[in-house]
Amino acid sequence: MKRISEALPWLEPHWRRLAQARARDRLPHALLFEGPPGMGKRALAHHLARALLCRRPSANGEGCGTCPDCRRLYGETHPDFLELAPEADRPAIRVDQVRDFCTRLGLSPSAAGGYRVALIHPAEAMNRSAANSLLKTLEEPMPGRVIVLVTEQPGALLPTIRSRCQRLRFLPPERAPVAAWLVREQGIPREVAETLLALTDGAPLAALALAEEARLAEREAVFTQWLGVAQGTANPFTVAAAWAEQGTGPLRWVLSWLEDLVRLAMAPQARIKNVDRRPILGEMARTLAPGALLELHGRWLEVLRLAGTGVNLQLLLEALLMDWAALRGKA
Ligand SMILES: [Zn+2]
Repeated sequence: MKRISEALPWLEPHWRRLAQARARDRLPHALLFEGPPGMGKRALAHHLARALLCRRPSANGEGCGTCPDCRRLYGETHPDFLELAPEADRPAIRVDQVRDFCTRLGLSPSAAGGYRVALIHPAEAMNRSAANSLLKTLEEPMPGRVIVLVTEQPGALLPTIRSRCQRLRFLPPERAPVAAWLVREQGIPREVAETLLALTDGAPLAALALAEEARLAEREAVFTQWLGVAQGTANPFTVAAAWAEQGTGPLRWVLSWLEDLVRLAMAPQARIKNVDRRPILGEMARTLAPGALLELHGRWLEVLRLAGTGVNLQLLLEALLMDWAALRGKA
């Protein structure tokens, strides 16, 4: 289980406040986490839930990540953790959802922790009648119940809701430590990390989501080029030049497709990683020999190993892509 200092380091001050309040038995029964998207509001609510429900919390009050309660939280099956959100395709949280939620919150905690933790997000999705039906629960706190309301628009909440919660503001943190976290914990190159933070107004998790999106966009483009080389519609030399500019990203994607091709060439029903590409990889694997694919895979792996040791990556990629074109040509 990742510590807050690794998972969400910019939220350590918030975490300390919560942990200290808990240690003094002063944890508020209702918290309002407010701030722009991508700040980690929900992630901190989950962190708090783990801390409260864990059977063996660490000395600083964090969940252990391995006990049965922590595991059930990960699997989203913990009976003492409740979530209230709009149902799929609906913009609002309905009043009957809130009533049902309040009833369930009132049930006795099932685990040894003695807590029931609830998350409401986005809290502004409660319309007036839904919010009003939550008020009673907020006004008459029950021991061992903690409700976290999460919102990006605190002004859209009823003032009576806001006033009954302890508010915690999530503001964009200093950029430099977050950039360092993106580099250290997420493996993002420094200059990319800085650009991502600039694009997301310094919201760490928004920057991370953007990095994931960019990775998927790169995967899409690389797949099209790789297929194009095999089909004779893309020039191996042009593709090699483009990939060499992108570091080892394209190499890693191709390796994962080659691995799946090997599996599929040996057994059409094999489990593969790139499930979204199963139809086309399956089609390709029908005409390729597992032995030739394995050999090709080994050579791509070797180039990945050599990348970054001062070799001419473009030249190596040209050779690999020529062979890939030839292999498919023979099929
Ligand atoms: Zn635990």
